[in-house]
Amino acid sequence: MLKELQILKSHGIQYVRNLRTQPVSDLFRGRPVISGNMTFEEINEIATLCPTNAIEKSKGSIDMGSCVFCKECAFRLPGKISFTNDYRIASNAREKLVIKPGCEVSIRLDESKIRREIRRLFKSSLKLRQVSAGGDNSCEMELSAAGNVNFDVGRYGIEFVASPRHADGIVITGPISQNMAEPLQLCYDAVPFPKIIILAGTDAISGGLFAGSTAIDRSFLDNYPVDLYVPGNPVHPLTFINGVLDLIRGRKE
Ligand code: SF4
Repeated sequence: MLKELQILKSHGIQYVRNLRTQPVSDLFRGRPVISGNMTFEEINEIATLCPTNAIEKSKGSIDMGSCVFCKECAFRLPGKISFTNDYRIASNAREKLVIKPGCEVSIRLDESKIRREIRRLFKSSLKLRQVSAGGDNSCEMELSAAGNVNFDVGRYGIEFVASPRHADGIVITGPISQNMAEPLQLCYDAVPFPKIIILAGTDAISGGLFAGSTAIDRSFLDNYPVDLYVPGNPVHPLTFINGVLDLIRGRKE
């Protein structure tokens, strides 16, 4: 017994104490900040090199729902575009993921868009079914990491479950390949009301690098409202956890 206690002590504290305020490395690529004085030529240059058309050509705004956080635009225009380490970038309003030049405010959820039953039912317990709809396993691994000993999202009663019948909602990763369109629908149909939908990662939010491909079928998203968009390529566990907590509990700090 003494030996086990010594081993535990030698491991130290392994979990993240406060998931809401945990600092991350400056190297983390989170919310972008864009200078308000880019020239038309500069905007055109970075918009042309962006692999996912995430940069809007007339204004130079960056859509985090399409951005793959490759940072090529920031490398091309250092001093005019930078990526902060602000990882709290999830929102329930798609338009809030578009960062305009000169904007430095952090991303918030639109409280008026949160369905009332979500706060009423899931404040202390939320079970989610993850659907990898043509994903490349990167977001899937990060979502899995959210439940490991470090992040331990289970402390908030948030867990991934195996059956959609035991779930309160689904988390979609990947661009939704044609082959996964029907299984995704079947999974969604099996989830009881109020059927939360979370899109995790650039591919799920916009199709990412696969946007416009004939190999994907995103018609599912035309039929149902999305409760939360979680940007990232892949999504960081802290981005996912904070986005979900903002959705089910609100942001107090
Ligand atoms: S970091 Fe995002 S906006 Fe910039 S070039 Fe890469 S994908 Fe485009």
